[in-house]
Amino acid sequence: MIPAQFDYLAPTSVEDALAALAEHGDDAKIIAGGQSLLPVLRMRLNAPEMIIDLGRIDSLRGVRDDGDAIVIGAMTPHAVVGSDPLVAEHAAVISKAVEHLADAQIRHRGTFGGALAHADPAGDLGAPALALGAEFVIQGSGGTRRVAADDFFVDLFETAIGEDEILTEVRIPKHTGWGAHYEKFVRVAHQWPIVAVAATVRVDGGAIAEARIGLTNMGSTPLRARGVEEALVGQPVTEDAVRAAAARATEGTNPPSDLNGDADYRRHLATVITRRAVLAAAGG
Ligand SMILES: Cc1cc2nc3c(=O)[nH]c(=O)nc-3n(C[C@H](O)[C@H](O)[C@H](O)COP(=O)(O)OP(=O)(O)OC[C@H]3O[C@@H](n4cnc5c(N)ncnc54)[C@H](O)[C@@H]3O)c2cc1C
Repeated sequence: MIPAQFDYLAPTSVEDALAALAEHGDDAKIIAGGQSLLPVLRMRLNAPEMIIDLGRIDSLRGVRDDGDAIVIGAMTPHAVVGSDPLVAEHAAVISKAVEHLADAQIRHRGTFGGALAHADPAGDLGAPALALGAEFVIQGSGGTRRVAADDFFVDLFETAIGEDEILTEVRIPKHTGWGAHYEKFVRVAHQWPIVAVAATVRVDGGAIAEARIGLTNMGSTPLRARGVEEALVGQPVTEDAVRAAAARATEGTNPPSDLNGDADYRRHLATVITRRAVLAAAGG
């Protein structure tokens, strides 16, 4: 299908993009890689009069080291994030999630910030960002603010980004030396997960010293499995100990029912996949 007619701007600075957003208000929409927005436009689920393309703003691209954190520019394509050595060393669960995100073509066009701003509960990047305690840097005409991952995902396809704001970068606290795994359960390759689990674990002397677990598609936003995290601390890396902790993966969840599986099926999957993800992350 063909989208409704729109005007198009491709500013070269965040300030110009913000000015265009302010000028066009509700009639404007940001486009990043277009991998989620273009299907929406083509199905005419949205018909903005002005599209503001962030693709020419070089400052929004790339990964850099910033002391205790790595910083990923919002317009960095998934493929670049997935092959970046800083991400692999300090935030390995993100590299692992990107490996399984869509197909190569989408990984080259779609962006890290675009996927997080889109906030699809089945998107693969929310759970890793949440598990790692990411901070989202959001710029508006009044300045820049930082939002913690716990406050960023508000609801289905809704984040803390205001209509007149742009997500510019995501700061990820370094988890150097932590084991990591992203376990994704799919029916068809290169698709969104039915359920997925992001696990990053610090093992010390054969026992789990710290664990951070994020769940994908177990509610209207990505969720932290805090019960599992608590239960894992001090446990040996054994099948039985991890299985017992993973049983708490359903706490606080509200998974959807759809053609891929009902809520009970997803709850069962969450416990199984959490066990697998934690064991793989911990090298068990
Ligand atoms: C066939 C197919 C399979 C896919 N499979 C998967 C999958 O398995 N896992 C997965 O996680 N994703 C999957 N995706 C989605 C893909 O990851 C998209 O790249 C991503 O969801 C959107 O990123 P984008 O850069 O293309 O954003 P766009 O489509 O350009 O934008 C998405 C939304 O975010 C807003 N936005 C974008 N950037 C910003 C910003 N910097 N500040 C504020 N708002 C912004 C836009 O206005 C829009 O509302 C798939 C997509 C397709 C088409």
